[in-house]
This record gives sequence, C-alpha cells and structure tokens, in this order.
Amino acid sequence: MLQSDTGIIFDVQRCCLHDGPGIRTTVFFKGCPLRCLWCHNPESQAAKPQLSFDSGKCRHCLACVAACHAGAHRADADRHVLERSHCQLCGQCVPQCLAGALKIIGQPRDVPSLMREIEKDRKFYKSSGGGVTLSGGEPTAQFEFCRNLLSAVKNAGIHACLETCGLVEPDRLTALISLVDLFLFDYKATDPDLHRHLMGVSNERILANLDMLLSRGVPVILRCPLVPGVNDQPEHLRAIADLAKRHSAIRGVEIMAYHSMGRDKAQQVGQQPGLHDIATTDEPTKNAYVQTLAELGCSAVLG
Ligand code: SF4
Ligand code: SF4
Repeated sequence: MLQSDTGIIFDVQRCCLHDGPGIRTTVFFKGCPLRCLWCHNPESQAAKPQLSFDSGKCRHCLACVAACHAGAHRADADRHVLERSHCQLCGQCVPQCLAGALKIIGQPRDVPSLMREIEKDRKFYKSSGGGVTLSGGEPTAQFEFCRNLLSAVKNAGIHACLETCGLVEPDRLTALISLVDLFLFDYKATDPDLHRHLMGVSNERILANLDMLLSRGVPVILRCPLVPGVNDQPEHLRAIADLAKRHSAIRGVEIMAYHSMGRDKAQQVGQQPGLHDIATTDEPTKNAYVQTLAELGCSAVLG
C-alpha cells in the first residue's frame, strides 16, 4: 500500500512555459475523477500504473512474448497480440521492445526524489518568475501526497501552481490554499447537463469550489478548454467573460484549444477515445475565441 509520502507520477517535465508563469517544472499526477471526452492526457485518468502499447511502432519482432511470464503478449501467425487483461505490470517486456512500443505509465515517486529534480532548475525559476506546477490527472486525487509535495515546495521557497479540475472535497481544497501561490482552475462547461454529458460528473461542487477560492481572493487563472461544436456555445463564452469581469482574483483567462493527440494516447492504454471526428482546432478558430471574449470585455490568451 502506498504511503502518503509516495505518489503515482506519470511524468516530470522541466522547462515548461505553458503551465503558469515563467519557466516551470511540471509534475503530472495519475488519477482523475473526471472523464472529459476530449481528454488530452487519457493516460492520466486511471489512478494506477498502466501498460501503454503503441501498435504503430510495433515491428512484430515478438521479443516481448518471451519476456512476459503472464502471457499478456502472444504471437498469432507471427503477429504480435496484446492481452491487456493478463498484464501484471512487472515491466519486464518494456526494455525488450527496441521499437519503443511499450511503456509503463505511472511510477511511485517520493517527495525527496521529486524535490531533487525540482531543485535542478532553481536558477531558472528565479530568473523567470517561474516555479513548480502540479498537474495531471488531478493532483488532489492523491491528496496527502499532493499536500506533502506542496509543503516541500513551499519550504524550499519555490513558487507553486496547482492545476485542478476543481472536483475535490471543499475542506481539502481549503487546506491547500496556504501552500499554493496560484491556482490554474479548469472551467469546462457552464450548463450542468452538458457538463455531466461531457465530463461524466456534475459541475455543482466544482463551481462551489471556484466560488470559494474567488470569494477569498485566492489568485486563480481560469483555464478553459474549448472544443468546436462541443462546448464553445456563446452562452459559455459569455459566462467565462462574466466570471472574469466579476472577480479581481481571476488573474487571467487561458483558452485551451482542442488537440486530437489524446485519441492515440487513449488507444495506447486500452481506452476508447471520447471524441472521434473532431480535428485539432485551427488558428482562425482559436483566434476567434479570443476575439469573441475580447468583445465581451474579457482579455483572454491562448494557453
Ligand atoms: S508488464 Fe510484465 S506482465 Fe505486463 S505485459 Fe509486460 S512483461 Fe507481461
Ligand atoms: S517487443 Fe515491441 S516491437 Fe516486438 S512485438 Fe513486442 S511490442 Fe512489438
């Protein structure tokens, strides 16, 4: 069983420029309570580690078949077949695959090892006004570990951003306020029925949590994924602009344009992609969102 000083992390990216101010190290947590149809990081949704298999890279060399004691890889007429349900996540097959088709997504990490990685770029944080961003998945889904890592970042005097979908117990969110310098809060759909349809859950608690942060004056950047024909209705754009105009604690609005890369990643971890026929949003459409928000009195940027 995992201790609260160990979390399941699926990536740590250094020198990020789009996850908060300045140059940042972004730590990606596994596990999310939402199931957004357009998810860009479907490999983050499940709380546990997963085997990722990229069939496009597979050369059918069958080296993984001999490596797997569980029978998850097998040959069918000299073609590779993966029986995902047999996988026990031992990782033995991964180094055998010279094509790079296999990967374990999510590793246990402790706070000291993450802090050593974070500390490597301290000089860049200082010179750029950057720091650390906890992202995911939903970091608060691993609440104790999230709090411990934020405490360590705070004690190290490094700026901390928390990217959140907002679906978290209110008392837990409250407990994190003093450890977070800036919340990157997702705002995905205003209409409750549409929210339930697209994200699989109600937005009631999410909106209440956002309201709680804003009414306390906690700095927030609103991150708004917009998918053409899915959640870019005029009423939603108007609601975004109204929120931003009403609350001085909203320090910025970022439009997160849809990218179809999530589809391949979903298939690699054995999931069905939520959206099939929607292309990556083009530049004119992205710029039109920014223009519409500007006309509504809200200065947004592309995230
Ligand atoms: S991770 Fe282990 S059990 Fe899973 S497919 Fe690879 S070798 Fe088999
Ligand atoms: S080792 Fe990699 S390339 Fe070879 S069959 Fe297995 S998954 Fe395919």
